[in-house]
Amino acid sequence: MAKSIYLDNSATTPLKKEVLDAMMPYLCEHYGNPSSIYKIGREAKAAVETAREKVAKAINADPKEIFFTGCGTEADNWAIKGIALAKEKKGKHIITSKIEHHAVLHTLESLEKQGYEVTYLEVDEYGKISLDDLRASIRPDTILITIMTANNEVGTIEPIAEIGAIAKEYGVLFHTDAVQAIGSINIDVKEMNIDLLSLSAHKFGGPKGVGAMFARRNVLPAVFMHGGAQERARRAGTENVSSIVGLGKAIELATNNLEEKSAKLCAMRDRLIKEIPEKIPFVKLNGHPIDRLPGNVNFSFNFIEGEALLLMLDLNGIAASSGSACTSGSLDPSHVLLALGLPHEIAHGSLRLSIGEINTSDDIDYVLEVLPNIVQRLRDMSPLYEKVSKELK
Ligand SMILES: *Cc1c(COP(=O)(O)O)cnc(C)c1O
Repeated sequence: MAKSIYLDNSATTPLKKEVLDAMMPYLCEHYGNPSSIYKIGREAKAAVETAREKVAKAINADPKEIFFTGCGTEADNWAIKGIALAKEKKGKHIITSKIEHHAVLHTLESLEKQGYEVTYLEVDEYGKISLDDLRASIRPDTILITIMTANNEVGTIEPIAEIGAIAKEYGVLFHTDAVQAIGSINIDVKEMNIDLLSLSAHKFGGPKGVGAMFARRNVLPAVFMHGGAQERARRAGTENVSSIVGLGKAIELATNNLEEKSAKLCAMRDRLIKEIPEKIPFVKLNGHPIDRLPGNVNFSFNFIEGEALLLMLDLNGIAASSGSACTSGSLDPSHVLLALGLPHEIAHGSLRLSIGEINTSDDIDYVLEVLPNIVQRLRDMSPLYEKVSKELK
């Protein structure tokens, strides 16, 4: 039978059956508008508030601090533009890193066009920012630090609690894009001094098209959507009730038994990280060797094109990604791999395998069986590889 193995869980995850079951009643049966005062309206409202409590609990926040959004991208846009607008009297300087998701980077570029100034912190070869650089870049007019919790391409986990402590010390707000981190590592917004956070349901077994922004009490980003009084009159529009219910259920399931689930993912990840270089020469692991997401594997393979590798994997029933899903289809190498210092030609030959709850050790066996042959076949077509392998002989 033809194999079908999904190893692109950082791009999206399948909706869990329990999540779908929780959502279904809110599509046809409990269809009321949460703003209506009669029974089915109140039922919908109660379901939205229960979901808000679940999201709050998962990150140790207060339900009043959770705002539902249309996706992770929207949460990033709202947190960043909303603080920029709310704090423009204090200053117009924002600090970020070079390896953020485009939802953050392109939002900041739009603010630069409106007169804001952005400092893009460098990262080291493993993708970590330097806390000294961060301190040095804070100015009296700095209004926001936005650094992702964990990187979507190379899996590196940033020192979030330390960044939060520095932000607090200097009285600057701290936003983190935790879209990849929720459901993979523990997040406690109080302990980590996080002021604003973005998350997205479809990255942890929930439906696509729903996310949330956490904004600490007294930290109020400007109104994002004008209209009705939904989301405390800051994000108008009738709530996506079934999806919000799905987000609540998904975050509850994803953060339950996190240690146990993450140990399973780490075991599969570490097998790939150990055995790929044993089976394939001229490879390099990208990202941090230890501080990395439990499901993330990212390798560069010299002498091959990432796109060709993806096509060959697809022909063998393996769904994977080069860099991030958002940049595949474009010929520019990933901004993340370039920021880690990889030369263009090596950044082009990279592969991300992101493992999720649906994967088993059989999937890992299969990858380890087919990947070496695929890489060898592609290298056999490369004139550069021919030259190098001759020189080695
Ligand atoms: C997927 C992702 C986003 C975007 O989330 P959407 O819900 O797809 O808009 C933002 N940041 C990171 C780090 C992501 O991985």
